[in-house]
Amino acid sequence: PSPVEVYLQKHEVTATGGDVPAPFMTFEDTGFPPEILREIHVAGFTSPTPIQAQTWPIALQNRDIVAIAKTGSGKTLGYLIPAFVHLKRRRNNPQNGPTVLVLAPTRELATQIQDEALKFGRASRVSCTCLYGGAPKVHQLKELERGADIVVATPGRLNDILEMKRIDFRQVSLLVLDEADRMLDMGFEPQIRKIVNEIPPQRQTLMYTATWPKEVRKIAGDLLRNPVQVNIGNVD
Ligand code: ADP
Ligand code: MG
Repeated sequence: PSPVEVYLQKHEVTATGGDVPAPFMTFEDTGFPPEILREIHVAGFTSPTPIQAQTWPIALQNRDIVAIAKTGSGKTLGYLIPAFVHLKRRRNNPQNGPTVLVLAPTRELATQIQDEALKFGRASRVSCTCLYGGAPKVHQLKELERGADIVVATPGRLNDILEMKRIDFRQVSLLVLDEADRMLDMGFEPQIRKIVNEIPPQRQTLMYTATWPKEVRKIAGDLLRNPVQVNIGNVD
């Protein structure tokens, strides 16, 4: 067996759906811009996690992905670094609205994602703002008005701001649904669908979930286009 085959077996990685590129087994394999590789180096990371190794090359081909993996598997950078590359390719003006939209179930998770985006996107000059409930809207709206390449939001608050017509989705071309199963468990499906309806359809969509029940399969089928399905470890 080839080194790639050994790697896939060892990490229980499977990917199905069309012609799937080989995983990036080292950070050098990724061809990420030097300013991004530098941030990874500064963080002290030695190699991509299995989910990063398998999803990065797929995401860089602009394909949709549904990734099923447990927590702690490095999913955040799994989508944030392709998001940085996506932003570099587009060079949109963030004052006209975000290019990347990340939906996450809770305020805590959303702020963690923003922290990671600001840390690893610092050298790439990525701007990122966060929208979540349980806090006044004024500050969040002010931040939003200053412009952000990446908006990380909980579905409830984002839907409120959308109904107020205070966010413009016309530039959004990368949508991420993080912890999709948890968002559905929390009853956010109607808000998610309203939000996604406002996003231009010719987008790339990446969905992450720890579990793969019927409800998650259904929304994945509705929101993703010919996704590659990546499984890490033993998930039913
Ligand atoms: P998940 O979303 O899958 O639960 P996270 O994205 O929160 O996982 O990552 C878990 C931890 O692993 C974070 O502290 C993150 O900074 C770290 N991490 C991410 N990628 C790597 C890597 N390639 N090597 C080592 N640590 C990593
Ligand atoms: Mg996570």
